[in-house]
Amino acid sequence: TQRFIWPVAQFGQIINIYQRAYASAERVFGLMDEPDAVDETEDADELVVDDGSVEYDNVTFGYGDEKVLEDVSLEADGGETVAVVGPTGAGKSTLLKLLLRLYDVNKGAVRIDGNDVRGVTLSSLRRKIGYVSQETFLFHGTVRENIAYGCLGDNGEPPRDEEIEEAARAAEAHGFVQDLPDGYETTVGERGVKLSGGQRQRIAVARAFLRDPEILVLDEATSDVDTETEMLIQRSLDRLTEDRTTFVIAHRLSTVKDADEIVVLEDGKVVERGGHDELVSRDGLYGKLWGVQAGEIQGLPEEFVDRAKR
Ligand code: ADP
Repeated sequence: TQRFIWPVAQFGQIINIYQRAYASAERVFGLMDEPDAVDETEDADELVVDDGSVEYDNVTFGYGDEKVLEDVSLEADGGETVAVVGPTGAGKSTLLKLLLRLYDVNKGAVRIDGNDVRGVTLSSLRRKIGYVSQETFLFHGTVRENIAYGCLGDNGEPPRDEEIEEAARAAEAHGFVQDLPDGYETTVGERGVKLSGGQRQRIAVARAFLRDPEILVLDEATSDVDTETEMLIQRSLDRLTEDRTTFVIAHRLSTVKDADEIVVLEDGKVVERGGHDELVSRDGLYGKLWGVQAGEIQGLPEEFVDRAKR
């Protein structure tokens, strides 16, 4: 199986293999601007993921003095999908950054299969966690290189062409790639062929398939895509998240509705949690968020809106 090498941790290594990945490191996944805020302990172990369960145990965190997360506890069993929703600034991205250990908690712990993330090597942690964000980074290179980006097999070799194509198919990207002037050899990124937001997203999903991480962190895109593209992206993501523990910062109600658990964050605190129907019937913050989106289909007869709300 292919191994996922997290570019943040392994950038030097990737440079050796993909010489073209010279583009500014800061832009990689938009995460490189994060300060190197954590240290590895000397006796850090390799993280071995079995179930892929994730636990936030009374986590409190602030970038400075101000608390951004306060006493957050949540659990995901192996293979489950947890949707994190809430207003801008509630702490959703911060919560997921703690899982990737871009920062350390001030209180409490984040554990994967019972292992505190502070006790394992950063490279093994970030190899096990895939990250798909709405800001997909494409460097100046071919589509093939962009999909393979940061991915080495167990033997340290770059992925084979068949594996890249298989990942692209799973990501619903193979079709549009074939229609590009030079297929997988088409140069994209700076001064290359411009890909649409929906196409870039599917390249990101293809990367994730290739890396095949046990745990997935998904920052769902808000960008406007047409209905058909939306459907393709949704289908590829359904495939990607299946049987993988997934945390998703969710903007689409279709995603949230299908999640095993929905966690509603407000001002750094979990204010509600549960299944979709349960939360809607409670008429709290989630009900309000949902009401806003259901309002987008105003103009439809009342019973449709009612049905959508169910
Ligand atoms: P959300 O993802 O829900 O929009 P964030 O986790 O991005 O929320 O942000 C939560 C709070 O933390 C906000 O007040 C934000 O301004 C602050 N914040 C986020 N990132 C940083 C950072 N790198 N340094 C300082 N404050 C930050």
